[in-house]
Amino acid sequence: MIDPSCKACTKTWPRADHFIADLGLSKAYLHDDQFFPGWTVIVLRHHATELFHLTSAERMQLMEDVTTIARVLLQVYDAKKINYELLGNQLPHIHWHIIPRLTNDPAPLEPVWRVPHEPILRPQSELQGEIRRIQDAFHTERYA
Ligand SMILES: [Zn+2]
Repeated sequence: MIDPSCKACTKTWPRADHFIADLGLSKAYLHDDQFFPGWTVIVLRHHATELFHLTSAERMQLMEDVTTIARVLLQVYDAKKINYELLGNQLPHIHWHIIPRLTNDPAPLEPVWRVPHEPILRPQSELQGEIRRIQDAFHTERYA
């Protein structure tokens, strides 16, 4: 199902050039704001707003997708902890924020939303380098 008023359904968000991987039921993209390095979003392919709108099999698959990307990000960014956030207040279409929290994190006890900062929008060449690093680790993880 597609919602024509939804930014995720109409593919105006996330940016296509931030694409990391097709996970089957969902797709992973590097988040625009890289203040927290490696911040990634996993977006459900079809429109649904609540986990209980998914079938049990879809929910399990989505958790597998989230888990795979989290493991990859932990490895690529040598993260101390991974944060998982499913909010949907601004964009109800199910999407997970997967956020590596590093040892030099400016506010390790706070959720990222409570850390005031200017978004870090990295140049496309740098973003592509980051995306390639994540993709390489993803392929190693998936096909190991
Ligand atoms: Zn949608």
